[in-house]
Amino acid sequence: MKILITGGAGYIGSHTAKHLSQAGHEIVVLDNLGRGHRWAVKWGLLEEVDLLDLSAVQRTLQRHRPDAVAHFAAYALVGESVQNPGLYYRNNFVGSLNLLEALIGSGCRKLVFSSTCAIYGNPQQPLLDESHPQKPVNPYGQSKLMVEQALADFATSHGLKSCALRYFNACGADPEGELGEVHDPETHLIPSIFNALMSGQTLKLFGDQYNTPDGTCIRDYINILDLASAHRLALEALATEKPLRTAYNLGTGRGHSVREVIAIVERVTRRKIPVEIHPPRAGDPPSLVSSARLAQRDLGWHAEWTDLSRSVEVAWKWHQRWFNSRLSREPQPGPKAD
Ligand code: UDP
Repeated sequence: MKILITGGAGYIGSHTAKHLSQAGHEIVVLDNLGRGHRWAVKWGLLEEVDLLDLSAVQRTLQRHRPDAVAHFAAYALVGESVQNPGLYYRNNFVGSLNLLEALIGSGCRKLVFSSTCAIYGNPQQPLLDESHPQKPVNPYGQSKLMVEQALADFATSHGLKSCALRYFNACGADPEGELGEVHDPETHLIPSIFNALMSGQTLKLFGDQYNTPDGTCIRDYINILDLASAHRLALEALATEKPLRTAYNLGTGRGHSVREVIAIVERVTRRKIPVEIHPPRAGDPPSLVSSARLAQRDLGWHAEWTDLSRSVEVAWKWHQRWFNSRLSREPQPGPKAD
């Protein structure tokens, strides 16, 4: 298939582009490079386009006429979304709406959407399944839920076939060393720990009085390659007209607290991480752990990277190389693993 990947210069989009390309699909990346990286687009053409520019999106779709779209382009920082909700509603929701309208105009009717467990809000049961009430506690989750609702309406009115993949916490890096996780500013836990280690600074731990066994937040860390394979399976299922649900959770079914993640990184790096306790970050639910039963049943997907230490090992190797080559800001063609 010819697949348009919005946000294909970002962390999850770029790993998925590589995976889809290696599976034989043709890739076109649409990205405004606001937070993505030119060096991360190595599999397919880059169209430097902002989703907020409707006519540019329409022109891009008319020119390439993709068979399907994998839609990643979005802002994804919970704390920032609480500080600046307008940014999130405009970029994540209005941008997606533009994409949907351009998609319908171009005749393409297949889309896999990068959604999130943040649409569930505070968990009412230990394992979140797809039927859990949807009550986001931050504008990031709300903006993604609004897109899911728009997808349902476009299915009814325009025959759009879509599948939302609700990820838990993405982690890891490309084992071949061509891609990894780089955000600016970095707010995600694992790369923040790496940054603290590399720069000799203290890690800020946001909240140690949550109602969890060690008082710190629990998350389900899902490897980036497992996310990439889920996208391929969903896109291929949409192409074969296989009946799919509108949304699937993607996680491992196992949670790690912030303190457990710190301990894993300390074991992998053989270094002690200085930690400073800070107040809880606004919008952070205490625990988010996935049930991935439906994705297994319908997509034939399962998480292969179930040992978080392995994901941390690969990511640490990549991060050290990236950090050391950072003076040139945009590594070309990207750090190589040993
Ligand atoms: N966290 C932390 N210090 C950091 C970054 C994150 O204590 O420097 C915590 C954060 O409060 C949350 C967990 O780590 O409880 C995972 O945060 P992350 O930003 O990686 O993902 P999120 O779940 O917010 O999408």
